[in-house]
Amino acid sequence: MICPSPTIIEVVVPLPFEKSFHYLVPPELIQQAQPGRRVFVPFGGRKLTAYVLGNVESSESSGLKTVIDVLDDEPLWTDGELEFFRWVSSYYLYPLGEVFKTALPSGINIQSKKGAVSGISLTGGRKVKSEKFYLSATEPPPRHHIGSKAAEILATISDAGDISSADLRRRFGQCSLQLRRLEELTLIRMEEREIYRDPFALETIERDTPRILNRHQARALELISSAVESRAFSPFLLHGVTGSGKTEVYLQAIAPVLEQGGTALILVPEISLTPQLVRRFRARFGACIAILHSALSDGERYDEWRRIRRGQVRIVIGARSAIFAPLENIGIIVVDEEHEASFKQAEGLRYNARDLSLVRGQMEKTVVVLGSATPLMTSLHAVEQGRLKLLSLPERVENRPMPTVSIVQMKGIKETISPPLALALEETIAAGEQSLVFLNRRGFATLLVCGDCGEPLTCPNCSVTLTYHRQRRRSECHYCDYTVPAPGICPACGSLEMKELGAGTERVDHDLRELMPGAGIIRMDSDTTSGKGSHNRLLNRMTDGSADVLIGTQMVAKGHDFPGVTLVGVLNAEASLNMPDFRSAERTFQILSQVIGRAGRGTLPGRVVVQAHNPAHYAIQCAIEHDGENFYRQELEFRREAGYPPFSFLAAFAISGTSEQTVEERAAATATLLIHIKREMKLRVEILGPAPSPLYRLRGRFRRQILLKAITRNDLRKLIVTWQIRRPPASNVRETVDIDPVDMM
Ligand code: ADP
Ligand code: ZN
Ligand code: ZN
Repeated sequence: MICPSPTIIEVVVPLPFEKSFHYLVPPELIQQAQPGRRVFVPFGGRKLTAYVLGNVESSESSGLKTVIDVLDDEPLWTDGELEFFRWVSSYYLYPLGEVFKTALPSGINIQSKKGAVSGISLTGGRKVKSEKFYLSATEPPPRHHIGSKAAEILATISDAGDISSADLRRRFGQCSLQLRRLEELTLIRMEEREIYRDPFALETIERDTPRILNRHQARALELISSAVESRAFSPFLLHGVTGSGKTEVYLQAIAPVLEQGGTALILVPEISLTPQLVRRFRARFGACIAILHSALSDGERYDEWRRIRRGQVRIVIGARSAIFAPLENIGIIVVDEEHEASFKQAEGLRYNARDLSLVRGQMEKTVVVLGSATPLMTSLHAVEQGRLKLLSLPERVENRPMPTVSIVQMKGIKETISPPLALALEETIAAGEQSLVFLNRRGFATLLVCGDCGEPLTCPNCSVTLTYHRQRRRSECHYCDYTVPAPGICPACGSLEMKELGAGTERVDHDLRELMPGAGIIRMDSDTTSGKGSHNRLLNRMTDGSADVLIGTQMVAKGHDFPGVTLVGVLNAEASLNMPDFRSAERTFQILSQVIGRAGRGTLPGRVVVQAHNPAHYAIQCAIEHDGENFYRQELEFRREAGYPPFSFLAAFAISGTSEQTVEERAAATATLLIHIKREMKLRVEILGPAPSPLYRLRGRFRRQILLKAITRNDLRKLIVTWQIRRPPASNVRETVDIDPVDMM
């Protein structure tokens, strides 16, 4: 008798193992246990979800455990997506099972549970919502007397073809009696349909039509469109000054892609994923859009994911995780504000969606458009090297001028709002126009210092000073949740004389109200926008004109278009220059250019007043002169001399733990091992550190870092892969590797 050979599958699990595992499939599950689906398996002492990669050609089944259940009726990913996930896993040196877990919507994963398996399938299960829809009957119905309300409902249903019960209730109020009667008479029929929770629903949007492009926009569109035609990987950098009409170019580039049956993936920073932006896409393309952002509930996220998987949407707009959207047949990928650091995930799988857009674009042979008014140094350098094709929009739409900028040297000035800025604010209010005041620090005072002993008030868990919030009467750590009543007493000497230093937005708010009583002043920072809807309420006060001055942190510098703003005030322009990070000049130039660009986006010209103690730095000078070219040249020289990207590739090791000594020892041992491997394999990698991280303590943990710099990715990769194999197990310390780190703190 011949035994049929057993069916064995290869799976990966969402745990930090680099390898895959084999399981036996029981006969009754063989049909379902296909690649691209999740299975429930025994693992160690527990049960967990695993991802099926494929079948194994082997009859060696002794010692293998058996699959408990198959969790999906349909594959969750395509072969193309699997290839992409494998690439991500290998590039970021992160286990494939964890890549799946990161890439799939959080609502879909189940962990080890006691008792029954509660798998969620693509086609059924408890999360799915349904609703009644009414359709007009296909047969011409006999005449009946049905009453006027029912007649009206019938007419509406016939006109619409089909309509949901919710829509009918909105129009006719309670109408179930009439609907039942119409159904009985077979004038209409009812269908239960699965529906999706739509975070932006219930909003009717007026359709809008494409603008007539200016010559720069038209040129950019032409190049993108012919690349779309060619169906080859074509990466572009759309470098357009603020208000130059980049979004309009995206919209017009997407239209022909959709006409040809393709789809579009749009990545934007979380902070600019506003209803305003979504509305612009809706107005142009209607409802075929899925939105992915962090505020979605698990259910909503899973709904959107399912709609995309089933090919029911043509456009996906989302923050960084949307790079994993299960969109097929992609014709164009757009990354708006490509310079934003938020495309980088800061923990777990530390991927960068901006970088991955190029990888996915290459795999799927699509056009990729990276857009920004202040592109990354690496992008501009890639243009010089011919790896990105430059499209430039050097002018604002409709010949609107760039704002005029003046500088106030703050030496000797005590006020938060200097006299020249105060005057400009008064003039703007008198003219009935709006102003924006930018300061990238919240709170009342960024520091309380003892007037007697000179000790600053610091966080006991983090190596930072506490920020004084006057309205809340307390000092807070902005990294952990530590707070103390404030101003309070000096913990060092018991003195009551705490002095406030360093103004934040709350202080500016206070000072402006004293300076200009009667003016409509609003403040937008994470303190004033935590309540639901508060963000929109503040924005509405700008649009309806009831606010004269908007004070805010970087939240106001990004994402929003305030057409009424003609004056921008920038306080403490050099604040971000003092960060111990090689990108501090680049970041300063970017944020200043973005804020300055908020002025005069409407029909009236804008002006800007910049307050600084040290305005001579080229990051500030180039920003106020709108001179990106000059900034790029100077910054590139600095990068070349210091050997930083784009002249090297980086990886950062972070070692942290609650015992300072353990962290120190582990960091030293890791550095020694790295140096050893480097010598043994003759790798050209510079190993810097271990050194205390700039934020040496964070949430009670001590932190050290080792920075690796290399001329080639290959050497860097070899070093880390070998280290991963040889590293001894770590106890009581966390040790992570960040490929292409963005946060150096
Ligand atoms: P950016 O994305 O570069 O900041 P937008 O695309 O938001 O610029 O354009 C700024 C404003 O100008 C928007 O209100 C947009 O509708 C409008 N706009 C864009 N292109 C044109 C054009 N060719 N003619 C007239 N208005 C335009
Ligand atoms: Zn003191
Ligand atoms: Zn803290």
